[in-house]
Amino acid sequence: MPSDAIGFIGLGNMGSVFAGRLLDAGRQLVVFDVRDDAMAPLVARGAAGAASVREVADRAETVLVSLPTPPVVRAVAIGESGIVDGGKVRAYIDLSTSGPRTASEVAAALRERGIVSLDAPVSGGVGGARKGTLAVMVSGPRTAFDTFEPLLKTFGRLFYIGERPGSAQMMKLANNLVAATTLAVTCEAVALGERAGLDPVKMVEILNASSGRSSASEEKFPRAILPRTFDFGFSTGLSFKDVRLCLEEAEALGMSVMVGRAARQMLEITAALYGADSDFTMMMRTVEHLSGLDRQAAGSASSRATTPSSPAPAAG
Ligand code: NAD
Repeated sequence: MPSDAIGFIGLGNMGSVFAGRLLDAGRQLVVFDVRDDAMAPLVARGAAGAASVREVADRAETVLVSLPTPPVVRAVAIGESGIVDGGKVRAYIDLSTSGPRTASEVAAALRERGIVSLDAPVSGGVGGARKGTLAVMVSGPRTAFDTFEPLLKTFGRLFYIGERPGSAQMMKLANNLVAATTLAVTCEAVALGERAGLDPVKMVEILNASSGRSSASEEKFPRAILPRTFDFGFSTGLSFKDVRLCLEEAEALGMSVMVGRAARQMLEITAALYGADSDFTMMMRTVEHLSGLDRQAAGSASSRATTPSSPAPAAG
């Protein structure tokens, strides 16, 4: 495992926490994000700030990325003045959810320049990232996995999926299909119960002791939906992207994904109502809105969900 500074690109909800954990572990970092405000806290903690992607790849042998979408990952990794053009970089690790196609395309292009790739998507959210308890799914050359195992263990528990680039991404998409659909259906179930006169807090407690429990009822409802903060830390646009990527794979393989299609539609409507940057727990507000519960609340003393303001563009 190279011992010099590690490069880190993409310092958003997840990347900022990853970079913080690497600093906590005593690693030297060279960081870059298109947003200065995302870089500032890490630079204040001792990371070196770079002015571009290319500069990171000129200064670090190992570059990690945590970026929003496949086109951004592709541009940063193999686009003009991307990681591929870096003078020092020898290894690239993608912690983003960027899908199997992007992973294999990027791995092939980097391999031509002698840069090894691992796709290492993660699950467990910002909370899991803070605690270092994420599931980290890794694919790529076994030798590279062995080299970077100690580094990746900083983030959580590792699962080596196999040599084929993108197979960890496929696993991650399957997981996120489950996460999005269980959140969507739990929102429907709790809103329904509430409309029928049940206490939502009690409902979630009972779901968590029953067969309906999931990460939606155990984490998302208690932390972000029941308190009506809708700030779990994962955007509607990114969840939509994950489900869309998963369904694209399913459709390419001729698989039936009826439930997944419904979840994708719910995320699309949530993005249209509340914006792609809204938290994906806002699916609860979508259910309430489509059921007319917000209109009832507006006319009653007990304020419930508010009506959406002007519709925003659908997530990409
Ligand atoms: P985010 O939108 O909060 O962060 C992305 C960061 O990338 C932003 O700071 C943005 O400014 C930066 N960025 C965008 N384009 C860039 C470019 N060209 N060069 C440099 N920086 C650029 O997203 P996030 O929630 O941190 O998620 C990151 C990735 O991890 C996504 O692929 C997401 O699907 C995945 N993921 C997120 C979670 C979660 O709970 N938030 C969990 C698991 C996986």
